[in-house]
This record gives sequence, C-alpha cells and structure tokens, in this order.
Amino acid sequence: MISEADLRHLRRCVELAAQALASGDEPFGSVLVAGDGTVLGEDHNHVAGGDHTRHPEFALARWAARHMTPAERAAATVYTSGEHCPMCAAAHGWVGLGRIVYVASGAQLASWLAEWGVPAAPVAALPVTAVVPDAVVEGPVPELVDDVRALHHRLHHPAGRTARRPE
Ligand SMILES: [Zn+2]
Repeated sequence: MISEADLRHLRRCVELAAQALASGDEPFGSVLVAGDGTVLGEDHNHVAGGDHTRHPEFALARWAARHMTPAERAAATVYTSGEHCPMCAAAHGWVGLGRIVYVASGAQLASWLAEWGVPAAPVAALPVTAVVPDAVVEGPVPELVDDVRALHHRLHHPAGRTARRPE
C-alpha cells in the first residue's frame, strides 16, 4: 500500500529528478528513509560527467553500507523516481536494504524510449525482483508517472528546454 508519507517522499524524488535535469543530468532522483521515517539521504543522477554508474540508488546503498547497521538497513525504505536498474538493484540486495517504492518502472521507461526512437540503454530493464528475488517492491505509482515521463521526454527532446522559464 502506498501511504501519504510514501507519496510525499516520491514527490521529493521527482523534484530531485527535475533538479538533475535542470543541471544538465538525467532525471532520476532517490530518497533513503529510515524505519522511523527520518530522511537519511537523497541524491540524483550524476552521469553527465561520463561515469554512467553514478545513479542515486547506488550512491545511497553505498552510504547505507558505511553508516547503518544491518538491522537499520533492513528497516529502511528507498524511494525513487524510476525503478532501480540491475546495477542498483544488486547494490540494494548486497547491502540488505529494505523496501523499494518507485514511481515509474524500468519497463515503462524502456517503452517510452522505444516510442521516442531513443536507443535502448546498454543494461537490460529487468525488474528489481529479477535481480533480488526477495525484495519488497512497490510501484508504479500512477499519480506521479506522468510527471516522471515528462522529465524524460524533456531530456530526449531538448527543443522543449528552450520553452522553460529560466531559473
Ligand atoms: Zn541504477
């Protein structure tokens, strides 16, 4: 079940994704939340420099490994604008983090890219549970999918950028 608190954290993920896009990066954002509801960290993609492993879910998993006990990790939730890619899902599984809640699925993103004629990503859009069979995963969240789709549309249709208000 997606709660109001879940939606609030997911909206923040979409904001972070928008920030990434505004700073010239790919629109993915994620938030790490402790079992008691405390926000522990947030991040967005940092792949514009050329390192395409710099996904927020990967960064948060490595942060969790350094700063949280196994029990704290298991009780935590990772919110994210787009479902973990296989690399990030694996990191999540290795580190032993808890629930994942995503807005748009990897399959949805792959279908948008295909629709727009954008070359497919070099890594397969496997569902998280294909990589981490016991993961607790919720999504897509229809209320916010259009917002995430719009960010990705803007990334791949840069003409739309000029129509945006300067910040
Ligand atoms: Zn990833």
